[in-house]
Amino acid sequence: MYYNETSNRKRESMVYKKIYKKIKQYDNIVIARHVGADPDALASSIGLKELILNTFPNKNVFVVGKQTARFKYLGVLDKAPDDLTNCLLIITDTPDKKRVDGINPDNFNYTIKIDHHPFIESFCNIEWMDATACSASQMIIELALKTKLKINKEIAEKLFVGVVADTNRFLYSYTTAKTFSLISKLIDKTGLDFTNLYEQMYIKSYNDIKFSGYIALNLNITDDGLGYIKLDDQILKEYNVDASTPGNLIENFGYIDEIKVLIFLTEDTANNFIKCQIRSRGPVINDTATHFNGGGHAMASGAKTVDFEQGDELIEELNEKCREYNIGK
Ligand code: AMP
Repeated sequence: MYYNETSNRKRESMVYKKIYKKIKQYDNIVIARHVGADPDALASSIGLKELILNTFPNKNVFVVGKQTARFKYLGVLDKAPDDLTNCLLIITDTPDKKRVDGINPDNFNYTIKIDHHPFIESFCNIEWMDATACSASQMIIELALKTKLKINKEIAEKLFVGVVADTNRFLYSYTTAKTFSLISKLIDKTGLDFTNLYEQMYIKSYNDIKFSGYIALNLNITDDGLGYIKLDDQILKEYNVDASTPGNLIENFGYIDEIKVLIFLTEDTANNFIKCQIRSRGPVINDTATHFNGGGHAMASGAKTVDFEQGDELIEELNEKCREYNIGK
């Protein structure tokens, strides 16, 4: 145990050094993250850009990917440079190549991955993966505190938001002693004003709250403990919300006694598929999500089905997961 911990620490310190060396070496750096950006993906990539610029003001750093209006408070995104020769690419919060947003990693001659998802594939020159980290933002905080990258209060606040969002305010089990230790160091070092950050994260329109009410009143709950709801375009229009709204509300339904696994299936007419958000308080769900064009973490995954009929197959498989879980208990 002792030896393992020591060698893990050694491996980690080598990876911080290697990443810092590459950042120092390249004048032009592109940072990317996964499609369908959430606060952790945005905070880790934008926070890293700001760390680099705070340390090396003369470098050119671009954070690419689709802008998400809802999370504008985390910063704006850039257009990728036309000429990618001699650019370093750093990808945060993304386990596989196909989910990198806005850029093709194959066009870069040096790439770095910083990710906390379970392993899917290796596609970068440096791969720093830590599935025990609660968020990619936690890994960026770690990188900042272990290297000569210069952090300030504003950057610390962004990274804090990434950690809080992915852990759902330190509720989820992958919140560890290391998470609290890093956050404590971050507060000591930068004096970040964490209580003031919550309003921008948790403020909701009254429309969204009414829509939450619709979900609460119409949720189906099976005897095996699966909660599910199908949200078609008509109901989204009726409540004047968009296809990304259910995903922003799902954490509010995390602790319902009768539900072990929860899935929202939302019609996304712009992309022509059914977007599925899945959360669990027991059974592992990411293997089921991968059967339906998705993936993610053991207890928080996403998937895509072609229509609600295929959604029924996903519902059935998740219900089976709940049934097996209940028998095994
Ligand atoms: P979400 O439900 O969109 O908040 O996503 C929860 C987790 O699942 C995040 O780690 C996502 O990166 C991952 N995820 C969501 N959708 C997909 C997908 N279609 N394929 C692979 N991973 C996904």
